[in-house]
Amino acid sequence: ARKFFVGGNWKCNGTTEEVKKIVTTLNEAEVPSEDVVEVVVSPPFVFLNFVKSLLRSDFHVAAQNCWVRKGGAFTGEISAEMLVNLSIPWVIIGHSERRALLKESNEFVGDKVAYALSQGLKVIACIGETLEERESGSTMAVVAAQTKAIADKVTNWDNVVLAYEPVWAIGTGKVATPAQAQDVHRELRKWLSENVSGAIAESTRIIYGGSVNGANCKELAAQPDVDGFLVGGASLKPEFVDIIKSAT
Ligand code: 13P
Repeated sequence: ARKFFVGGNWKCNGTTEEVKKIVTTLNEAEVPSEDVVEVVVSPPFVFLNFVKSLLRSDFHVAAQNCWVRKGGAFTGEISAEMLVNLSIPWVIIGHSERRALLKESNEFVGDKVAYALSQGLKVIACIGETLEERESGSTMAVVAAQTKAIADKVTNWDNVVLAYEPVWAIGTGKVATPAQAQDVHRELRKWLSENVSGAIAESTRIIYGGSVNGANCKELAAQPDVDGFLVGGASLKPEFVDIIKSAT
């Protein structure tokens, strides 16, 4: 069985005081054990070590990005090696905000995922279609192409979580319906089974992101192919605890 996964993507938010407050809330929360749900929070780089030092030991941290290959003369970038050096176990790669605003292509994202894995990081790899793509009926073609660019470069999927985040649902309050999420997740699992392997399709967690909150998480979590969430806005609030609890 696939272990439920709940990630909190804090994006470019937070002050030292706010970060302390969020972590305190998480540390005091009563949630299902680590055998039942894997919880990973992703603060901005500058707070990563601080959060890691304060956070309860059954929760883990993720960076929000890393450089596509070995570090060096790449001003402003953070390398996978640095994350490993600081014992940061996870990294988010290919978030739609970076794809759109920083022009990260499918191929670049695939290269990043492969390099991060090669250095020993675990990766939350993000995919998802825009509203225009959904309305033109190309959702599956878009997410399959995004997944293929990753599958072309990745040989071991053990440390990959696939995050389906429809762009139209991110930060909009327009959450995908449980049926919409389930449809895409089921198709993605089928894609993995036909193009990677049946075993990998069965074992890889496919999580949903986009306007997940304490009120809508239960019904989404009940879908057979929804293995957890990547949460933005609500991960900065106490209701993140309710989302973690939707694992059971
Ligand atoms: P929201 O939960 O704020 O819609 O963001 C989702 C997201 O982008 C997580 O990576």
